Amino acid sequence: MRILNIASNIRLLKQSLPSTVRLIAVSKTKTAEAIQEAYTEGQRCFGENRVGEILIKKDLLPADIEWHLIGHLQRNKVKMVIPFIGMIQSVDTFRLLSSINSEAQKIGRVVDILLQIHIAREETKFGFSREEIEEMIESSEFRDIRSVRICGVMGMATFTSDTGLVQSEFRSLAESFRYLKMKYFSKDENFRELSMGMSGDYEIAIREGSTMIRVGSLIFGERA
Ligand SMILES: *Cc1c(COP(=O)(O)O)cnc(C)c1O
Repeated sequence: MRILNIASNIRLLKQSLPSTVRLIAVSKTKTAEAIQEAYTEGQRCFGENRVGEILIKKDLLPADIEWHLIGHLQRNKVKMVIPFIGMIQSVDTFRLLSSINSEAQKIGRVVDILLQIHIAREETKFGFSREEIEEMIESSEFRDIRSVRICGVMGMATFTSDTGLVQSEFRSLAESFRYLKMKYFSKDENFRELSMGMSGDYEIAIREGSTMIRVGSLIFGERA
């Protein structure tokens, strides 16, 4: 893959994906022009990790882009993204879920989210444990959550060349997804996304059942 040709990077990557896997093009730190190039190639779904950046870019780009927030979200910034966000993939606490719910309720929206599960060895990665999700779902406060649609789970593997470790982490995320689906969401068709896999590990993620990959540098080139 030639790093600098965004259109052909997108085309080649998409050709190689099974039809069950959706591509989120991670455009964080990249320019609106770069995103436009991917858009022209047919890409509509983009991932960003900072609220400030997403707010600037969305006004410069076509309105039918579906923006996914994939980075840690502070509760005081929730209000700014609720009117337009396509999906918040990085919901990592009940407090955040609850803020999203109340801001969505205020404007009469139902917002799609994923629950981020911590699977990596690294301390720095945010997310719930499976047990914390169960506790949350079984709590009485959870019943008030009506303006949020829980569409599945998201996770990031350890940044390592040890593919065995990455595979076992993705496998454990996939097991949590199936477990939660069976126990709490078996009748909820919205709960169906398993967001895992980035530039360095998306092929492993797909083998382990990913439905959504979040790929940045392989499309747009390395970030500074
Ligand atoms: C940056 C980022 C990605 C994409 O990383 P690449 O290695 O550039 O593909 C995916 N997911 C999350 C949560 C990210 O922050």
